[in-house]
Amino acid sequence: MRKLVLANSPLCKLCGKPATVVDHINPITLNNLSQFFEYTNLQSLCNRCHRIKTLNDRGIDSRFSRLKEGKEIKESLEQ
Ligand SMILES: [Zn+2]
Repeated sequence: MRKLVLANSPLCKLCGKPATVVDHINPITLNNLSQFFEYTNLQSLCNRCHRIKTLNDRGIDSRFSRLKEGKEIKESLEQ
């Protein structure tokens, strides 16, 4: 699946450089696990754009930030 996506769109969707990773357009959560292998939910990205997008996706997903906050609070309590 990953190779197929890269073969069909070898360039990064965001910056046009050669793509190296396949990204889920809609981030996969427990609610949309079925989209994990959906071709229409995949796009080619280069490493750099993928990293930026992943960070943005996590920023939007409040569950991730809350998890992160909880971890940081726990760590600060343990110090
Ligand atoms: Zn890129």
